[in-house]
Amino acid sequence: MVQKNTEVISMDCVFCKIVKGDIPCQKLYENDKILAFLDISPIHKGHTLIIPKEHHENILDMPDETLAELAKTTKKISKAVKEATNADGFNVTQNNGAAAGQAVFHFHTHIIPRFDGDGLKTWPHKDIPEEEMKRIQEDIASFLKD
Ligand code: 5GP
Ligand code: ZN
Repeated sequence: MVQKNTEVISMDCVFCKIVKGDIPCQKLYENDKILAFLDISPIHKGHTLIIPKEHHENILDMPDETLAELAKTTKKISKAVKEATNADGFNVTQNNGAAAGQAVFHFHTHIIPRFDGDGLKTWPHKDIPEEEMKRIQEDIASFLKD
């Protein structure tokens, strides 16, 4: 990792290389903090990635201010993606950690256009017994107490 004034980059990160212009991308939008471009291996045409220009690995590492700006930009770009692709809907997803399917360890949000009957399956659901649900509810809530 190299930190130079406000610049934070990771030398071997593919998305940092895209930000620097060392690897080309099909750019859709940028401002001083954020870059959006087409995913190289799309689930559907128009599959978009939105990244902070600074290298942060996942959502827990993101500065609140950058995350808030990225959320606003995601809304703006989602509208453009939906209109341009004539999508019936879209997924906004974001993977954190290899176990969650993260392959590029530079924070990114996916916008995936979706079409009625496109056959893409969502995740399977589980039946969790009520007492286990209560326990996990209490456990998570306990980490949220100020
Ligand atoms: P993840 O699984 O980490 O959430 O998603 C990483 C995404 O980055 C994948 O959908 C993959 O296709 C995309 N990707 C990986 N390398 C490149 C690249 O060099 N250029 C672009 N445009 N997308 C990439
Ligand atoms: Zn990076």
